[in-house]
Formats: sequence, structure tokens, C-alpha cells
Amino acid sequence: MYCLVINSGSSSIKFQIVDPASAATDEPLASGLVEQIGEPSGAITVTINGEKSREELEIADHTVGLKRAFELLDANGVGPTQLEFFAVGHRVVHGGKLFSEPVLIDAQIESMIEDLIPLAPLHNPANLDGIRVAREILPDLPHVAVFDTAFFNHMPPAAALYAINNEVASEHDIRRYGFHGTSHEFVSQQVPKVLGRDPEHTRQITLHLGNGASAAAVHNGRAMDTSMGLTPLAGLVMGTRTGDIDPGIIFHLAREAKMSVDEIDTLLNKKSGVKGLAGVNDFRALREMIEQDNSDAWLAYNIYIHQLRRFIGAYMIILGRVDAISFTAGVGENDVEVRADALADLELYGIKIDPERNAQRSSDPRVISTDDSTVKVLVVPTNEELAIAQKAAVLTQA
Ligand code: AMP
Repeated sequence: MYCLVINSGSSSIKFQIVDPASAATDEPLASGLVEQIGEPSGAITVTINGEKSREELEIADHTVGLKRAFELLDANGVGPTQLEFFAVGHRVVHGGKLFSEPVLIDAQIESMIEDLIPLAPLHNPANLDGIRVAREILPDLPHVAVFDTAFFNHMPPAAALYAINNEVASEHDIRRYGFHGTSHEFVSQQVPKVLGRDPEHTRQITLHLGNGASAAAVHNGRAMDTSMGLTPLAGLVMGTRTGDIDPGIIFHLAREAKMSVDEIDTLLNKKSGVKGLAGVNDFRALREMIEQDNSDAWLAYNIYIHQLRRFIGAYMIILGRVDAISFTAGVGENDVEVRADALADLELYGIKIDPERNAQRSSDPRVISTDDSTVKVLVVPTNEELAIAQKAAVLTQA
């Protein structure tokens, strides 16, 4: 039995066909990407059993894209008419205060997700497009929404709330929601399994370092703090986002540079971070520039590491004792130097990375600290699609 997992963006739809019983590192049965929706130059890429095929066509909207993608899957024997799907799992970015668990989608849930659009104006409308189209095409299947914020829904108030005027905060639902929750939860559940520990007695820091990046403090399976906030702009330095900056910078830019709200939004979300400092946001390109001793690349990297260490230090104190620190996502799983530099010179705190273990390449979850490191350091590949399929299976009792 398979779950069709859909991650619908404003101009793209990613999808996977996933067996929830598979291992985190298994390839899905099929995966695909519908790109450039609404542009003349659209494309659909489908990968089945490692074989990639690509079709270029104009894709007017999400309905056209998803229908064509299903036809391509059907033509290869893995589409909705041949395979028995037990559910469709949808990634939804913002669940606000309302959703701390996955839910079965009906008309009421759709309108609740719609009500959350002001909190995620770029993401929730696109997620909803995917939900509406998929429900229309596959009306007989249960559709499950899995929220990126859900894992952080029950953080302690001291971590979840800002020191901002109470009335304004409650009127406008201003609080720290956190994002990448499905990934932080998935990774934090893998860690006790890898270490053979009781999850109820494990305190850990999870570092999701991809193009977007966030840190979380997890105490006995529950999120205690996270670096992203009302929006995914806060916290760590990211590919194109600033991470934490003095909010006064925004007023300064508005007053002195006469920038509009939209211009500042674009500057901080899309033209900043590693890209804003070094001109590239991919860490492989950044590493090449560092090897050529490019000073902008060095500065970007040093700011990135400094901010990362700042959060690791804060979460060590918040947790009081740390059993494990894990790295995940594109940078965290692949960049040996980032892992080494993030935790360098912390032997006094019981953190010691083994350089040989750290340098080994593998797609399996693994420990990269020395045997005598009291804090275990791990690399745990994330798999949000598998996590969504597993949650859909639990909810639909498949
Ligand atoms: P994600 O958002 O998790 O898909 O991560 C994407 C990012 O991971 C890319 O922008 C790169 O910066 C980084 N990345 C991917 N592969 C590698 C690699 N082999 N070495 C270093 N960074 C990588």
C-alpha cells in the first residue's frame, strides 16, 4: 500500500509515491516534479525505479500539471488507476495555533487552512491549490494535511511567545510557530533508535541545514524551542534569508533607503543570507570559492557558522543536558566542514567529533562523534515525504 505525497508550491508541485513501511534511506517507488506552472516553458519530470523522464509542455495551472503527472505515472504502471493508494498526504506549511496533529481534509479543514493565509501568504495558498486539485482528481481517497508547524505547537510559552505588546500579539496571532517541524520530529525520533536510547529520556538538538535552515531543542520527544519564528525568516543564516537580524534594520531601510515593505521582504528573504554575502547560495559553490580564498565567501561562511554556534550554545543551556546533536538536510548531511566547524573546540562541553567518522560518506544515519564524546553527534538523513506517509498511515489506520 502506497501513499501519494504532494508538496505543492506556487509554481511547482513535488510528489512522491511512498511505502510508509520503507526505511528512511530507501528510494520512493516514484517521484516527480511539475515545474514552471503558469509559464510558457513548463516541464514535468518523473523518476520511476531510478529512471528519469522529462516532458516539456505549457502547464496552465495546478490542475493541468497534476492531471498530466498522473497520466505519466499511469503510463508507467504506478499511477492512481493501477496502484492502490491508501491516502494522499499533503505538506502544509502553516497550521497556526489550530493544528498540532495531521488531519483528514474536508471542506471545513480547507477553509481553516485558507484562514491561515495571512500567516503564510506565499505558502498556504499554493498548498491549498494542491489540496483542491488532488481532492478533485482523487475524490475517493482520504487526503491528509501534515503541517510544518505542528511539532512546535506545544512549545513552552516562554519559548513560543515574543516580548511584544500583548494585545497586538493576540489580535494578530503573533508568536513563534517554527517550521521544518516534520523534519525535526522525524530526525529526533531516529536519534534514540540509532543510539539505542529511550526516547523518553533523550535531550537533543536537531540542526536542519538545507537551503532553509533551522535548529530545534527537543526534550524527551517534545520541542522546547526552535530558531524560526512567526515566519521562516528568523534564526540561522540561510541560503538566501538573513536569519535573525535587529528588527530596527527594517525601519532604518524604510526611512533611510525609502524601501517599500515588499522590497524589504524580498531583500531579507531572497537576496540575503549566504547569497547576499557571497553571491551564491549553494554550499558546493561556496566551498569552491572558499578554496580559492575568496574573502566574501569566507565572510559568509564565518557568519553562518557563528550564528549556528550561537543557537547550539543557547539550546545546550535551555536543555540543561544534551545527549545528542544531529545534522540533517542538504548541507547538514553533506558538508563535512560545516559539521566540524559548528562543533569545533567544544571538548570542555563533552562534544568531540571524530574527523574520520565525520568524513565518511553514507546515506545511513550514523554517529560521527568519538566514543568518549559524552554528547553524541549524528548525521541523520531527513525524509519528510516518508514522515508524511507514515503520519497519513497512522491517521487512516492503513
Ligand atoms: P535542501 O534544502 O535540504 O534540499 O538543501 C539544499 C542545499 O544543500 C543546497 O543549496 C546546497 O547548499 C546543499 N548541498 C546539497 N548537496 C551538497 C553537498 N554535496 N555538499 C554541500 N552542500 C550540499
